[in-house]
Amino acid sequence: MIFMAKKAFKAESKRLLDMMINSIYTHKEIFLRELISNASDALDKLYFKSLTENLGIERKDLGIDLAVDKDNRLITITDNGIGMTKDELENNLGVIANSGSFKFKNDNTDTEKDDINVIGQFGVGFYSAFMVASEVTVESKAYGSEQAYKWYSQGVDGYTITDCDKEDVGTKITLKIKENTEEEEYDEYLQDYKLRMIVKKYSDYIRYPIRMEVSHQHLKEGTENEYETHTEIETLNSMVPIWNKSKSELKDEDYNQFYKEKFFDYDDPIAHIHTKAEGTATYNALMYIPSKAPFDYYSKDYEKGLQLYSNGVLIMDKCPDLLPDYFSFVKGLVDSADLSLNISREMLQHDRQLKIIEKSLERSIKNELTKMLRNDRERYEKFWKVFGLQIKFGVYNGFGAGKELLKDLLLFYSSYEKKLVTLEEYVSRMKEDQKYIYFASGETVDKIDKLPQTELVKDKGYEILYLIDSVDEFALQMMVDYNEKQFKSVSAGDLDLETPEEKEEMKAKAEESKDMFAFMKDSLGGKVKDVRLSKILKSHAVCLTSDGLLSIEMEKVLSQMPA
Ligand code: ADP
Ligand code: MG
Repeated sequence: MIFMAKKAFKAESKRLLDMMINSIYTHKEIFLRELISNASDALDKLYFKSLTENLGIERKDLGIDLAVDKDNRLITITDNGIGMTKDELENNLGVIANSGSFKFKNDNTDTEKDDINVIGQFGVGFYSAFMVASEVTVESKAYGSEQAYKWYSQGVDGYTITDCDKEDVGTKITLKIKENTEEEEYDEYLQDYKLRMIVKKYSDYIRYPIRMEVSHQHLKEGTENEYETHTEIETLNSMVPIWNKSKSELKDEDYNQFYKEKFFDYDDPIAHIHTKAEGTATYNALMYIPSKAPFDYYSKDYEKGLQLYSNGVLIMDKCPDLLPDYFSFVKGLVDSADLSLNISREMLQHDRQLKIIEKSLERSIKNELTKMLRNDRERYEKFWKVFGLQIKFGVYNGFGAGKELLKDLLLFYSSYEKKLVTLEEYVSRMKEDQKYIYFASGETVDKIDKLPQTELVKDKGYEILYLIDSVDEFALQMMVDYNEKQFKSVSAGDLDLETPEEKEEMKAKAEESKDMFAFMKDSLGGKVKDVRLSKILKSHAVCLTSDGLLSIEMEKVLSQMPA
């Protein structure tokens, strides 16, 4: 008899496992989606390897088999994919940190509510098996390897890895389904119909057959009420990826459900974009605009990118080159037949074809947003509140490049009903004698509205953009103008509001009060550069203005920035 040392899970893994075992999550059934998606990934990896290294493996020979043994309470999920070596079993299943799908938000996420959030937000992966199973066995033989290995665990205690016999390359996962308890039912996972339903619901688009032996009852021939059972192997999934279906076949619900499963979101997306292109680039793309920003969106941890498929084979999970930064919030996938698989994944990043696709996707995303802005303003403003900042950064960082593309997607608050307006709307309301697009910066719309500097401009009947994000003014500076109308800060020294006669009059008045202003300037002891007679004030006696291009608010921002 051989005794094996049990290995302990790494701390993070242990916590996740604990969470899974004690999960109160109502969608326990997703364990099957996770295991099937891992199997499908393993098939993709093997097929990809075969294509790039000419191993001669045919796609039709790849698949996933489900089997149920009710008497022993076992479910098995078998794939003939790439398999795992001993080290891979150790590293992939023993250390959760290696799983791309899971990262803890912070160190105190152990309340039940947070558990659900975590489970909902991420692909929980392999460990979700422990939501329904008391024991998990993984037998695997890696492609190109002689020996197979068995990973076994009953949960938090740890796991063992031993040699085992397995003829075929690939992975077989066996779950021992938990016994029913008073609160929870587990027996249903041993029913064919339930498994069939779960596969249909979550894994229909998997591009490899998911097969199971299903029993049917038939009326026995020549009798009227005697039945006989016969069994046959059935493919449970339709295997047609949703992005290859035609738009007319699909309803919003189909798109939304696919999104929620694939990108682990609770909420429906704000919009989906399903495009097919032929010509310089041939591809199918399915993209989504989420309704909420991921928690790490405005941090440097966030990774943008679309999934990239070549003829249905996944080649990259997050291809950053398919999305410009200002549309980094878009989720989705692109399937193109044009990409040569014979180049490495790293090389792919420089593929010319990708650039063409990126440009074309960029146009599709812009068109969708423009359409939304025109036809469904409420929804667009919802989008804007979540991702508008990113678009404004895009204008700012683009050094002019993003300007043309993004200028008509911008929204700013304005003195006109204190609502969000587009630049186009602003310009359409400009007075005949109005030269500039005026703006004022501040913390809130109300505070800006009360600034003395806004008074005279408003009095002239000119609309003012109210900038409340620190990036706003930088974005406008970068744009310089909108359709040849220049932007001008209401706190700029020279607002150019008066007629030539008024100008003369001011000059004369300033001359009269010259001595008084010099005295004031001296008294302020160098705190101001100059004291001048101002034309922009109405009911206020004094205000501060700036001389240069920047408004006072922007100077404040700059002075707060680390040098
Ligand atoms: P993820 O799929 O997000 O990477 P999982 O927890 O689902 O995270 O899986 C962890 C890792 O275990 C996978 O990345 C993969 O390397 C490996 N793995 C899981 N199941 C299989 C399988 N059926 N065949 C080969 N490798 C697998
Ligand atoms: Mg997975």
